[in-house]
Amino acid sequence: MKQPNQPLIFEQSRPGRVAYSLPETNIPEQSLSDILPGANIREEEPALPEVSELQLMRHYTALSNRNYGVDSGFYPLGSCTMKYNPKINEETARMAGFAATHPYQPEAQVQGNLEMMYDLQQALAEITGMDEVTLQPAAGAQGEWTGLMLIRALHEANGETGRTEVIVPDSAHGTNPASATVAGFDHVTVRTDERGLVDLEHLKEVTGEKTAALMLTNPNTLGLFEEDIMEMADTIHQAGGRLYYDGANSNAIMGITRPGDMGFDVVHLNLHKTFTGPHGGGGPGSGPVGVKKELIPYLPGPVLTKENDTYYWDKDRPHSIGRVKPYYGNFGINVRAYTYIRTMGAEGLKKVSEYAVLNANYLMRRLEPYFDLPYGRHCKHEFVISGRRQKKLGVRTLDMAKRLLDYGYHPPTIYFPINVEECMMIEPTETEAKETLDAFADAMIGIAKEAEEDPEMVQEAPHTTVVGRLDETLAARKPVLTYNTETSLKSMK
Ligand SMILES: *Cc1c(COP(=O)(O)O)cnc(C)c1O
Repeated sequence: MKQPNQPLIFEQSRPGRVAYSLPETNIPEQSLSDILPGANIREEEPALPEVSELQLMRHYTALSNRNYGVDSGFYPLGSCTMKYNPKINEETARMAGFAATHPYQPEAQVQGNLEMMYDLQQALAEITGMDEVTLQPAAGAQGEWTGLMLIRALHEANGETGRTEVIVPDSAHGTNPASATVAGFDHVTVRTDERGLVDLEHLKEVTGEKTAALMLTNPNTLGLFEEDIMEMADTIHQAGGRLYYDGANSNAIMGITRPGDMGFDVVHLNLHKTFTGPHGGGGPGSGPVGVKKELIPYLPGPVLTKENDTYYWDKDRPHSIGRVKPYYGNFGINVRAYTYIRTMGAEGLKKVSEYAVLNANYLMRRLEPYFDLPYGRHCKHEFVISGRRQKKLGVRTLDMAKRLLDYGYHPPTIYFPINVEECMMIEPTETEAKETLDAFADAMIGIAKEAEEDPEMVQEAPHTTVVGRLDETLAARKPVLTYNTETSLKSMK
């Protein structure tokens, strides 16, 4: 259960208190200016807090207890796939053969590591229905950019330089139009229709000789499967464009269908979402990109290759778009994903998809009587509800999200996708037990009732957290990241 919030004793520093004991140094005193340029030498002692080891320990332990993560509670953040990170992944990632090797070691010494990467590439190619995979990109967004650069290189090689537009649905993850722009394309928005799916007629209108690609998430960010996908693929291909699949959250389709079979030419996956890598807090990610045959020559180099049971980096790739990340990508995350795939097996991955979809539909139907459901069809791994009904009582979706903190839950994604009013996007993932889903549903239903009976209390939430509502813009734009008594005290107010 939640820890009681102890009163904050902020300033604990007293001159002379120390939290460490170091042995005497046997390195001779040396004039600093012999080692460092003058401008880099401190003139005054740093104003660091002076505390005992116990105070230091309590400080950091208290901070860690205030953190909320998958290991502390339910985390239904839609489009983020905050699923359990199996601890066996950590054990394999820590094995000396993986953790203590260096990417610049000669190939002959790291054959095992290369084999693991090669097998992972093969497994991801199989799961997505692609012909070849690169593990270089370090995040979903970098995968998107890499994939679009590949499509760009292909069009250029074919002399089709007039293909300047990438079509993106209005429900797409924000990284999609951003990646298109960074890759040098203009993005064109295609509308969502009343089914919550891409408006096929509108897609046909915006597709033409300028179309370089359609970027699609399927199931889309409303959690709905684009049932017209084959017709959409035909439309784009007949116009000479290519299809890009945003597979960040693939845990509704693994083992059931494959982007390659739906007509997609390029796909990225988020190993730090679907494949159980820990994420959030800016941790290392991995966004491998898979491609169909015609795009293989453009893949980032060097390309991991196998010949007579020997693995090596093929650097002779004249058409490659170049390297997008140093040799191994984020290797540790790849070890974790590989462990996960080997642990689950093909049947296990299919079960993952079935449970992800079952959990999301169960939760959606439990909430349906209390919240507006803009799209009533069965969902895939996630779903959206709208706080329209509560808004009429003066309670916004933001208020309900804050109130969830009092119940001890991380709120779902809110106000995204932007085409749904007062949106809440909920993704329970397959790793949650029914009891957890029920407890969360009870909390949500409780808040819906509070909105009717005591709207003010919900508007003023959270009531039990250490701090109330923060200025999120200031926190992002002007974060206070260093110890400084004055600013620290000010920011506590
Ligand atoms: C998370 C996500 C991304 C971006 O992935 P990052 O690793 O955060 O860059 C892209 N698309 C979708 C649908 C996502 O959920």
